[in-house]
Formats: sequence, structure tokens, C-alpha cells
Amino acid sequence: LVVLDFEATCREGEPPEPQEIIEFPSVLVSLREGAVVAEHESFVRPVFHPRLGAFCTELTGIRQEDVDGAPAFPEALAAHQAWLASHGLLERDGAFAFVTCGEWDLRSMLPRQCAASRVPLPRVYRRWINVKTIFARTLGRSASVGMPEMLSALGLELEGRHHRGIDDCRNIARIVLELAARGASFEITSHLYPSQMPALPLTLHLGAHVREVTLKKRQLASLLGLAGSTFRTKVARVETMDGVELTSDEELAELLPGAALR
Ligand code: AMP
Ligand code: MG
Ligand code: MG
Repeated sequence: LVVLDFEATCREGEPPEPQEIIEFPSVLVSLREGAVVAEHESFVRPVFHPRLGAFCTELTGIRQEDVDGAPAFPEALAAHQAWLASHGLLERDGAFAFVTCGEWDLRSMLPRQCAASRVPLPRVYRRWINVKTIFARTLGRSASVGMPEMLSALGLELEGRHHRGIDDCRNIARIVLELAARGASFEITSHLYPSQMPALPLTLHLGAHVREVTLKKRQLASLLGLAGSTFRTKVARVETMDGVELTSDEELAELLPGAALR
């Protein structure tokens, strides 16, 4: 299992737009060995809102100088994947599963960051185990608890600093190991489907006509409807500028913001 916990730009109340990842850490847990076997530490430099502000530094313990010298998101994502690969985790589908505390990290933050940075969201990050669900199933309790409540319900002390990504990963890993010791089984609880990915800006071509549009839902039917209403005509097929017809919602998941279609 790979525990993942992002920290991101924030302030009191609503976060800045776009909110950006500032820490991208992971901890590799072996259920067979009942132990943490590797760690990946990584700060990320925000580029839309480069100044962290006092609230964010107080919450996360992440200082301006930690992110100033760090790679921007596309490089940090590549480094995270290289770390997964170095542990043999990308060799086959299902070699591992991500574990997060809640749905925010992989349902909201990562898809939005990929859209803002204009990089594809790799498939491995589109399914995960929400440890709150496993906690609730194993202890017969509500899943609406935070990490500190899960730790204390399991008789564990919070170690390190809450809201520092690497410390959160280590604490979530301890929850995972304790739940495993109590007989929990770790199965995928959550998927990100193409239709749930962030709205996609596109350029549509029909003959000599060109229009900028935003596709709200990555569904083929929505795309055909949007193209039809944009050009006020019936549209039966959409293809890439290289002439490859789009035939499934899954293919829409791979399109980058600003892609051109005809
Ligand atoms: P966490 O994994 O709980 O440390 O939270 C992840 C991110 O959510 C943080 O890096 C912040 O961007 C945001 N966040 C968490 N708690 C708060 C809070 N109380 N106020 C504002 N933002 C928060
Ligand atoms: Mg978190
Ligand atoms: Mg955290």
C-alpha cells in the first residue's frame, strides 16, 4: 500500500484558486511484513500563488524556503512516479493501491492540479482506498472521523506534526498497520471516473469554423451535444486533429486542457 497525503496552498476560509500542491509525500507499507518499508519526501513549488502566507505555514509547518527551491508540480509528479517505479510498483496493474485519509487528495486536489498544470493525470492515481472507510468497516463506527480521532480510537498517539504531509503519511500508515493487525482487509473503495474530472477547455473545428468551448462532463454524449449546439448542426462524430475518432468516455479522460478536436 502506498499512503499519500498532499498539503496545499491555503488561507483562512476558501483556498486560493487554483489551489496548488506544496507537499507530495508517500510512505510504502508492506502488509506482509507489517511495516513501513520506504518513504518519499517531496516539496512542490506553487507557481500561480508562490507566496505561502503565515496561515499556511502555521497549519502545515512548510516554510517559504522549503518550496522556493523545490520542483514545480510536473517534475514532482514525475519524481513520485519514478519512486513508485523504483519499488517495482508500476510493473503491473494492481501491484499496489494508494491509501488516503478521505477523498480530497485523489478526487479533488490531484485532478485539479493536473488540469491547472496541463499535464495528464496518470491512470494509477484514479483509484484508491479511503482509510476512513476501512476504519469504519473494521470498528463498526462512522466514517466521518479525522486522522486524530482514528488514532485515538485505535489507542495510538499522534506522532510528528498534524498537517505536515510526511508526518500525516506516517500516522496514516500506523492506522493502516493497526487495522491490518485487527483483521481489516484493504480493497479499493474509490474510483475517479472520466465524467468526474475537472471541466475541460477545448478548441472545436468544423470546416473553417473554430470555437473555444468548455466541456463540463467528460462524456462522449456531452461532447457531441456541445459541438452540435456550438455549430448549430447535428454532430455525429468528433475526432482529434490527426483524424482519430473519439469513441468512449475513457478516451476523453486522456485529453489535455486546450486540446483541439474537429
Ligand atoms: P491535511 O491533509 O488534513 O493536512 O490537509 C490538506 C490540506 O487541506 C492542507 O494542506 C490545507 O491546504 C487544507 N486544510 C486542511 N485543514 C485546513 C484548515 N483548517 N483551514 C484551511 N485549509 C486547511
Ligand atoms: Mg490529508
Ligand atoms: Mg496532511
